[in-house]
Amino acid sequence: MDDILSLAKRRGFVFPGSDIYGGLANSWDYGPLGHLLKQNIKAEWWKFFVQQRDDMVPMDSAIIMNTKVWEASGHIQNFSDPLVECKSCHHRFRVDHLLEARSAEPGYDKEEVVRIEDVPCPNCSGQLSSPKNFNLMFKTFIGSTEDDSSVAYLRPETAAGMFVNFKNILQVTRRRLPFGIAQIGKNFRNEITPGNFIFRTREFEIGEFEYFINPNPADGAGWEAMFEMWLDQIRRWWKDIMQIDMDNLVWHELPDGERAHYSKRTVDIEYKFPFGVKELHGIAYRTDFDLLRHQAASGEDLQYTDPVTNEKFLPHVIEPTFGIDRMLLVSLLEAYHVEDAPTGEAGETDKRVVMKFPHYLAPIKVAVLPLSKKTELSSLAQEIANRLRKDWMVEYDETQSIGKRYRRQDEIGTPYCVTVDFDSLVDKKVTVRDRDTMAQERILITDLVDYLAKHLCSNTIN
Ligand SMILES: [Zn+2]
Repeated sequence: MDDILSLAKRRGFVFPGSDIYGGLANSWDYGPLGHLLKQNIKAEWWKFFVQQRDDMVPMDSAIIMNTKVWEASGHIQNFSDPLVECKSCHHRFRVDHLLEARSAEPGYDKEEVVRIEDVPCPNCSGQLSSPKNFNLMFKTFIGSTEDDSSVAYLRPETAAGMFVNFKNILQVTRRRLPFGIAQIGKNFRNEITPGNFIFRTREFEIGEFEYFINPNPADGAGWEAMFEMWLDQIRRWWKDIMQIDMDNLVWHELPDGERAHYSKRTVDIEYKFPFGVKELHGIAYRTDFDLLRHQAASGEDLQYTDPVTNEKFLPHVIEPTFGIDRMLLVSLLEAYHVEDAPTGEAGETDKRVVMKFPHYLAPIKVAVLPLSKKTELSSLAQEIANRLRKDWMVEYDETQSIGKRYRRQDEIGTPYCVTVDFDSLVDKKVTVRDRDTMAQERILITDLVDYLAKHLCSNTIN
């Protein structure tokens, strides 16, 4: 994890937020490469779950919504964590985290019943208060007055935006069940104990969709089969698109009692992070809970009429949710490799750090490297770089030895390096080096775009 953190900062994937002012606890800024990586992950997610399907429609709802939305969804009453406060240092802690930490201690007896008040403060060993609920939504005010009538919240989830637009979208798209509404967007939760780099932050991005179904159709698939279909799609996402080691995933079927009361099935997809097995994302069958609540609170009829049977009912929902920042963290962890590589001196090897991103996720696709800074080489190399920029993110680098420049590109996961040397001026060819095999090939400059297009093709799996 330390290696990833250091590489992320050193190479500009992720910086501590507000760094020149000493930072802001648990806020992070994505630098040039992190931004590109995140854009690429979102683009592939979009392509896999929306573009390549005929049963999904996109949307983008507002971050600040009518407060009634959060009353109806239950967030104002229930979106809280039980917290305890230290009577001495006044730090606040989540009860579940304290109990979890306690049960992980050596010599802990499972039969022992721990009262949270008996756990010492992790900060100063002082005494803790009894648990109190603390709402996790960020509160703000609309307009110039700061009173109860102008209170608003930053959204804690994207789902509500899709439920409150269900009727509008149904009307304009004339969709028939089953179909889904998808969106990617920022969310805000005033977490008390964020941490583990970008794993848990107060501001984060979610990609999710609400897939509306008839739970028990006269013919066709019921909710159980729809749920399995989505589990299978999620498996393919991780295996074929993110290309991770599937042994690093844990499929956690939530038993009765651990699920939300309205959910008939929930699976948490967990990942073996260096700091423990933690939730990466989830999929839940939410029945008609959300539409029912919004229908009751808004007074709008949100029912769907089946055009064949004329049956009128509230659709049920299967909701897969993905944390974009957590996926980015996983892509960094999975891509990170340290290998022995030849130095160029006969028989000698050296360690190289190489980020083996799938090509379509790599922030920079091609680096153009003139062998020397001499004008005749650099002008040809610039010309090639400018042509490649029309299609891909390109880096141009002419400083230091070619070996060092290759290592720099390996470290940020650039799939191809194009080297322009003095022979290039004569034979009109360049050397293309492959990141993973380090194999080199001479390619005609006129064939370069086709060669790279073929080797950098984006995923078309579905
Ligand atoms: Zn304390």
